[in-house]
Amino acid sequence: MRTEIRPVSGLRYLFLDLNSYFASVEQQVNPRLLGKPVAVVPIANTDATCAIAASYEAKAFGVKTGMRIYEAKKLCPGLITIDARHDLYVEYHHRIMDEVQNHLPIEKERSIDEASCRLMGDECKPENARELARAIKAGIRAKVGDALRCSVGVASTVLLAKIASKLQKPDGLVLLPPEELPGPLLKLKLIDLPGIGWSMEQHLFNAGVTSIADLWALAPKQARIIWGSVAGERFWYALHGYELPEGETRRGSIGHSRMLSPRMRPPEHARIVARALLLKAAVRLRRYGDAAGALGFSARPERAPRFVADTTFSPTQDSFVLLEQLEKFWLEMIRENGRHEPLKKVSIWLHHLVPIEKRSADLFIARRPDGVSRGEALWTALDKLVTRYGRGTVAPASQHGVTLQYLGAKIAFNRVPDRVEFVE
Ligand SMILES: [Mg+2]
Repeated sequence: MRTEIRPVSGLRYLFLDLNSYFASVEQQVNPRLLGKPVAVVPIANTDATCAIAASYEAKAFGVKTGMRIYEAKKLCPGLITIDARHDLYVEYHHRIMDEVQNHLPIEKERSIDEASCRLMGDECKPENARELARAIKAGIRAKVGDALRCSVGVASTVLLAKIASKLQKPDGLVLLPPEELPGPLLKLKLIDLPGIGWSMEQHLFNAGVTSIADLWALAPKQARIIWGSVAGERFWYALHGYELPEGETRRGSIGHSRMLSPRMRPPEHARIVARALLLKAAVRLRRYGDAAGALGFSARPERAPRFVADTTFSPTQDSFVLLEQLEKFWLEMIRENGRHEPLKKVSIWLHHLVPIEKRSADLFIARRPDGVSRGEALWTALDKLVTRYGRGTVAPASQHGVTLQYLGAKIAFNRVPDRVEFVE
């Protein structure tokens, strides 16, 4: 099948990368470490273990991630080593992601300290994208922690946005519009590019490609040959700011999952998290203009076997319809495991996605002439209010108590609106 590949005009993705993430979290929770050279090390470290993160103060001495501690201490005798606390980093990860989502839906959490967001409509204008990036950065510092800095890149593909996020550290903000390419990339080394590791760099060298300029000048087919797979061609297109055709890059599903802290593991608490994850996925679904024809759910209990369920239905954007499906799964799970079995992780995913305008009519569902049901129209209107005025503003009518941000200590568990309550 031949498909047309079109260059993307404008800025389509925002990529966020926390700076010196683990070390910054340690500095955040322990102000004694602020301004000091800090290296985070695996538990039970000896001088032979490696730093898994270094604060900016440590980096100034030449300390790098992956460096052995005895070497790092030679460069920086005052280096403070801290045992890694992964639970803490995961907790901060959630807080950061939740704050990002006060400004923009997250397209994908790419690692513990990275996320990408898709820009749409006016958000793609450089001044608006810059404003959003600034708001996210300020929001993280104000609401999550003043020690947390991030670098943000904005560009036409995820790859370019990620590269842009690396161009300025710490606390960077770089827009990389397609018309400026490859200019700012030329100062990088091949190995600096995400997806090019040591062995790919060797392949490239062997093929006579020794700089970004060489790489840029390749034809897509040559990239395919060097990579030895279609991945090379994909990389070339992403680097040149081309979005691959819809059919290939179209999201197959929208999913969210969460590891639960011990406090959130009793099923009645875990249920609230699962519902909040589903509501979050539904916001993304509507934003993309898609309807979901299937919902998957899985829960990993502490002792019982994993519970997995999946169901199809007439494609919808209506959060209440989706919540009802989830509730059925939930009751089924409780029947199997009992209502006291603690849950370590819950996941939900929406799939069988169809663009809303391509959805066929359903005799059993009343829709308006534009093909949207009343419930869907209501949720879309709520999404707009939340986007315009912030989540808190419309809380009582919509998602009060279900924003994941407050699933920590603050949530009032009885405040998740049920359908009945909402319709009243
Ligand atoms: Mg980082």
